[in-house]
Amino acid sequence: MSKKKHVAILGATGSIGTQTLEVIKSHPDKFQVEVLTAQNNADLLIQQALEFQPNCVVIANETLYEKVKKALIPADIKVFAGDKALAQVVEMENIDVVLTALVGYSGLLPTIKAIEAGKHIALANKETLVVAGELITSMAREKGVNIYPVDSEHSAIFQCLVGEFHNPIEKLILTASGGPFRGKSKNFLQNVTKEQALKHPNWDMGAKITIDSASLMNKGLEVIEAKWLFGVRQNQIEVVVHPQSIIHSLIQFEDGSIKAQLGLPDMRIPIQFALSYPDRFKSDFPRFEFVNYPNLTFEQPDIETFRNLKLAFEALEQGGNAPCVLNAANEIAVAAFLRDEVGFLEMSDLIEETMQKANFVSQPTLADYIESDKMSRMITRQLIKSKV
Ligand code: NDP
Ligand code: MG
Repeated sequence: MSKKKHVAILGATGSIGTQTLEVIKSHPDKFQVEVLTAQNNADLLIQQALEFQPNCVVIANETLYEKVKKALIPADIKVFAGDKALAQVVEMENIDVVLTALVGYSGLLPTIKAIEAGKHIALANKETLVVAGELITSMAREKGVNIYPVDSEHSAIFQCLVGEFHNPIEKLILTASGGPFRGKSKNFLQNVTKEQALKHPNWDMGAKITIDSASLMNKGLEVIEAKWLFGVRQNQIEVVVHPQSIIHSLIQFEDGSIKAQLGLPDMRIPIQFALSYPDRFKSDFPRFEFVNYPNLTFEQPDIETFRNLKLAFEALEQGGNAPCVLNAANEIAVAAFLRDEVGFLEMSDLIEETMQKANFVSQPTLADYIESDKMSRMITRQLIKSKV
């Protein structure tokens, strides 16, 4: 029997984290959980740790340390707290693969530490590649570390690439559901609420990515993620809106042939493939039936109304720290929208203005990325203040 894969899950209490634990639970002979982490949800972290018996857990919010420690020390599970511990825990000797399911920029430093320690990465936290894709992918190459995509579109492309790694890609086609506001006008979007934006038609996800999906920023981040994962130029990446979310993405090869990966929208499939690659494990996830979906449809994204997708392509074109600035501005804008401080369309204005104001660095180091992130957040916050 092959050795079990030892997995660290960063962000275990979130949408991706809990689905990862479902996958692991159904394959107890294949996986062993080594590390679980959470930010604030101490109760769920404790419950997960008691069930999966990891070597240790990290609660990022230090004020919850005593509570988690009290619950887990009797079970012989080590407990650490704080962001530093979160970044360091991935270096543990026993870990084979680190599944990164933190939200936003917070995933960057732990991912860098994990790569430095030679751990393979199952990457859900797309913002890490948006912020510092060049740095992360070159570090991974240097260390001989694989980055397995968890994002469904990138998993689809990865699955289509199996057996084709030596064949040049002509074009990547990323599908987008279009989110809850597909087909809506600027006028309509002026007054939409966070409650409306949080109702995604096909996927049940964390709040930040759900807003990103409604604003098409998620697809913008995914275009940047795809560039770094698959080493293509931005003019080789196309986005097509496919409201049913059945075709998860496609590759066009140089002979004109297109390969696609299909299935019901269920993140457990890409999560499992990222952990099981190169094998496929049996699952009882619901199966797709063609006759239940007689109309799979496709349309152009409306980038005049949903400007974030255009801004992301522009950031990619500019290169350097521009995607890092875009990401930071977006994180602040989304948080402000979720606090009802800015309107839905204002998010794009804030991102665009931040990109104009932030210093451009053409060949950023890690220190430059950290500084750009900090500065851009400050600029966006000031812009918000000046508007209210
Ligand atoms: P959730 O908000 O559901 O979960 C985030 C997890 O990370 C939680 O465990 C949370 O802890 C923890 N966390 C959040 N912020 C911090 C922080 N600053 N420091 C430490 N821990 C933190 O997010 P999702 O699972 O939806 O998304 C995770 C990542 O995966 C994102 O990058 C997203 O874009 C990507 N992704 C998600 C998909 C999905 O279907 N959900 C699909 C494709 C990609 P706590 O629970 O305690 O707050
Ligand atoms: Mg996706």
